[in-house]
Amino acid sequence: IERVSEVLDERIEIHDRGNPRFSIYDSRLGYIDEITDNPELPIENSQPEFGEIRFEHVWFAYKDNDYVIKDLDFTIHPGEKVALVGPTGAGKSSIIRLLCRLYEPNEGRIFVDGIDIREIPQAELRRYMAVILQEGFLFAGDVKSNITLGDSYSLEEIQQAAEKTNIAQFIEQLPQGYDTQLRERGTNLSSGQKQLLAFARAAIRDPQILVLDEATASLDVGTEALIQEALDKLLLGRTAIIIAHRLSTIRNVDRILVLKRGELIEQGSHEELLQQGGMYATLHNLQMLAT
Ligand code: ADP
Repeated sequence: IERVSEVLDERIEIHDRGNPRFSIYDSRLGYIDEITDNPELPIENSQPEFGEIRFEHVWFAYKDNDYVIKDLDFTIHPGEKVALVGPTGAGKSSIIRLLCRLYEPNEGRIFVDGIDIREIPQAELRRYMAVILQEGFLFAGDVKSNITLGDSYSLEEIQQAAEKTNIAQFIEQLPQGYDTQLRERGTNLSSGQKQLLAFARAAIRDPQILVLDEATASLDVGTEALIQEALDKLLLGRTAIIIAHRLSTIRNVDRILVLKRGELIEQGSHEELLQQGGMYATLHNLQMLAT
């Protein structure tokens, strides 16, 4: 009973901070969802108010004092698109794991819209933030449930998400449309189609924050343009963190954070970083030579 009431207390704390983007726990009513978006206002045309991410002097070690994230301190503003760049092992994935609260910092704090993520119930954090992995993960089941992941959405909502992400036409051509069974490794889909399906899965949740582990695999030319377009639409009005493997695809982000052994060593736009002539410029020039 003590443990249960601890959890309930935690939820009430969110109520105390009164952030309208999150479900607010009311002891009499249970959870009430109070989303402040004005439906009259298309999100594309409005500067988003929510989706701020703040790392406050975060230190993190998987084991003992072997820190892989060192005193990381940055703020990502609502709607801002930020790329994480750095050599393998620099800490990019660890930052994402911390943000999703798969691990907790040893020191420092992480805030989403001003709320310490330890105070946000996991389910809500997951709903607020969609993570799209390199390899769109599919499971054996029909197309519909691969988009909804078992949450309840109407067919209309599913179709809308598919349309927004350029996959609707393909799905409609399948023998049973949205009821078509997919195999676990998605062998009956191309890698591009898997990626679009992963976008649809994110789009239906309408998350404020998108985390993208950018695909390294080269896609067939036919789907690459479709994917870029779908991605551009998906990113509109949302905060995005992109783990970039190929520097060529992140020139248009608002800001690039350059990491080295868990430390933030440079940040700025593509042009600013090239002018600085630091590690980003070196990595960039090396990749230019390699292509
Ligand atoms: P990146 O995504 O930039 O390649 P990671 O965040 O995956 O970097 O890794 C940062 C450091 O943390 C590396 O030294 C890596 O070996 C270590 N690391 C990553 N995952 C684990 C884990 N599960 N357990 C222990 N060490 C890990």
